[in-house]
Amino acid sequence: MRRLLILGGTGESRRLAERALAEFGDRLEVTTSLAGRTAEPVPVPGTVRHGGFGGAAGLAAYLRGHAVDLLIDATHPFADQISRNAAAAAAETGVPRLAIVRPPWRRRDGDRWIEVADAAAAAAAVRSLGRRIWLTLGTADIESFAWLTDHWFLVRRVDPPPAPLPLSQAEILLARGPFTLDDERRILKERRIDAVVSRASGGSATIAKIHAARELGIPVVLIARPAPPPEPTVPTVDGALAWLGLRLGA
Ligand code: NAP
Repeated sequence: MRRLLILGGTGESRRLAERALAEFGDRLEVTTSLAGRTAEPVPVPGTVRHGGFGGAAGLAAYLRGHAVDLLIDATHPFADQISRNAAAAAAETGVPRLAIVRPPWRRRDGDRWIEVADAAAAAAAVRSLGRRIWLTLGTADIESFAWLTDHWFLVRRVDPPPAPLPLSQAEILLARGPFTLDDERRILKERRIDAVVSRASGGSATIAKIHAARELGIPVVLIARPAPPPEPTVPTVDGALAWLGLRLGA
């Protein structure tokens, strides 16, 4: 048996674990690593481990200690620290590594995008875009909007935030994706959203809100994503399965 470690926490990583076991389960053991940010993650087939490794050196020690043969980084496009660690640990240990990198979104007719470098620039941009703002961002980025005390914010989360959000006026909507175009259209209309702030994550997983905003003519402030991890990369789970197949001599 060969051993695959998937760095996960995304829909892609879950589908990859499912399909890798379905297609190569006779010769492959699959472990998915989760950072441990979600209280009750969606179940993933195979073995699941939780929590950080202790930087690139810790991940390299894990790869050696668990005799990992193949490493696939299927983390979120904005989870750039773990992706850098994965590239460094793979280089150090010689374990073949692949990263799934979502293709960037392309502007279409009707998009009212304002592209910015970071959350602080996004906060400056939304100031004049209306009072009701939907922040589709991680907790760390919310702080940048705290000074906008006249604005009302919608924040969607899987779990209730462990501490109150640093926002004067906010609604927390608890929901777990994936979200459809209907879901996102309903939110924009029912909450009378004036502008959306989103990370430019790319791929199909979270694009429905971008389509819904375009339909309704609502501006989207898009935060640029970090540099992608080094090659080899593939855009989809299908590409990762093809890479696995080659490595396994299938
Ligand atoms: P990050 O900033 O790149 O990682 C910070 C640290 O968290 C890493 O150095 C590592 O700790 C630990 N870590 C991250 N992902 C891990 C994993 N899959 N398994 C074990 N340890 C992991 O990442 P993040 O933005 O905190 O995201 C954490 C996880 O949530 C990722 O798995 C990502 O796919 C998922 N996620 C993130 C977002 C997002 O917006 N960032 C959205 C959806 C899902 P050590 O250095 O101690 O190893």
